[in-house]
Amino acid sequence: MKIMKFGGTSVGRPERMQHIAAMVTKETEPVIVVLSALSGTTNALVEIGELIAKGDRQGAKKAIDKLEAHYQTFISDLLKKKKTLDTAKAIVAEHFEFLNIILKISFSEALSKDILAQGELLSTKLFCVYLEEKGIEHQLLPALEFMSIDNNDEPQIGSIKVKLTQLLKQYKSKKLFVTQGYICRNARGEVDNLKRGGSDYSASLIAAAINASVCEIWTDIDGMHNNDPRIVKKTVPVEQLSFEEAAELAYFGAKILHPASIWPAQQYNVPVKLLNTMQPEAKGTTITEKAGSDGVKAVAAKDNIIAIRIKSSRMLLAYGFLRKVFEVFEKYRTPIDMVTTSEVAVSITIDNDSNLKKILKELEPFGSVEVDKNQTIISVVGNQIAQTEDMVKKLFGSIMNIPVRMVSYGGSPHNISLLVPAEFKTQILQQLNKGMFGL
Ligand code: ASP
Ligand code: MG
Repeated sequence: MKIMKFGGTSVGRPERMQHIAAMVTKETEPVIVVLSALSGTTNALVEIGELIAKGDRQGAKKAIDKLEAHYQTFISDLLKKKKTLDTAKAIVAEHFEFLNIILKISFSEALSKDILAQGELLSTKLFCVYLEEKGIEHQLLPALEFMSIDNNDEPQIGSIKVKLTQLLKQYKSKKLFVTQGYICRNARGEVDNLKRGGSDYSASLIAAAINASVCEIWTDIDGMHNNDPRIVKKTVPVEQLSFEEAAELAYFGAKILHPASIWPAQQYNVPVKLLNTMQPEAKGTTITEKAGSDGVKAVAAKDNIIAIRIKSSRMLLAYGFLRKVFEVFEKYRTPIDMVTTSEVAVSITIDNDSNLKKILKELEPFGSVEVDKNQTIISVVGNQIAQTEDMVKKLFGSIMNIPVRMVSYGGSPHNISLLVPAEFKTQILQQLNKGMFGL
């Protein structure tokens, strides 16, 4: 069995949805199709939730009506037969009635999650109506019946496996299944989600749970590129990556794949393929246990980084100092990305500033604390890059004019990270493209 996950732009227009229906029915192997919401929908639902939370019911009502009108146009372009169009109209009416009811009751965090879930519920149901119109046999698998997270918002892979296997057993003769990405139930049994962009994560969890032959992530670009195509003119897709390399790239800025979606596939050894819906014949990127080749594969950038330097003469020859510093970040549940140390100072980076003030206050007793906001991490990723001949020379040779704030080398054999002020991001990505990839 294989997994085919399609993102928002792959289902965002009626003709695209029709196109992917044709794609998934060509498969010989049984398929579980995992869908995102139509592009723009989750953003609209976030806005609706925020308006309701603020008490702006009129504004929320307007936004709900606008979104409903979008779906009405969508289904009338998607479907040709009266019977299926009526079914789709009833589905749209049901989900927007739900949103209109929420408008009338008092707002809560749990309700906001219910609002966010409507996008994937709608996209999958409408896709199924289209399959029905085309006479294509299929089965909808409600994600809320098997996808779950625990008290720490971590997916419960064991339980997902048991529930999904049981569900699939009921439909032994079927070959095409459709389910929602992103949505799940939490430990209290409420509707919840795997955070923004989480449909990739759903796909990978499902692939792991059923031991799929492959987890295909279909988007609108032909795989992971060696550099950010939005910033650098000439980029090329990377054909083969190891799970480790892909995880570094996804975490450090390559927007194509949700970073959390690597571990389930890696743990259950399911290959992941990043493919392009608009260009299905393109090779894309294959992510497996093996790296394919050694050397530098790609660079990625992660924005909105804050660097904190703690300088203290007490650090000299002391032990336990770093633990005390790290404990402050742990206390405020703030992950640290990069760390560099000298004998009397430590620099670390974070990307979550929600508790920055409190963190700085608690760091004060340790020594002098300096903060640099608006930094960017540039990650150079590849297999065994540290051992690649001339790599360091090429890397630093191509960025000599750029003020580098931190360098992290040796933490992993697959990554070298540099911290630079955000205003140098475009320049450094361009210079690295030339210096390291000759592009
Ligand atoms: N629809 C959700 C979002 O926009 C999940 C996803 O598309 O991956 O974040
Ligand atoms: Mg996505």
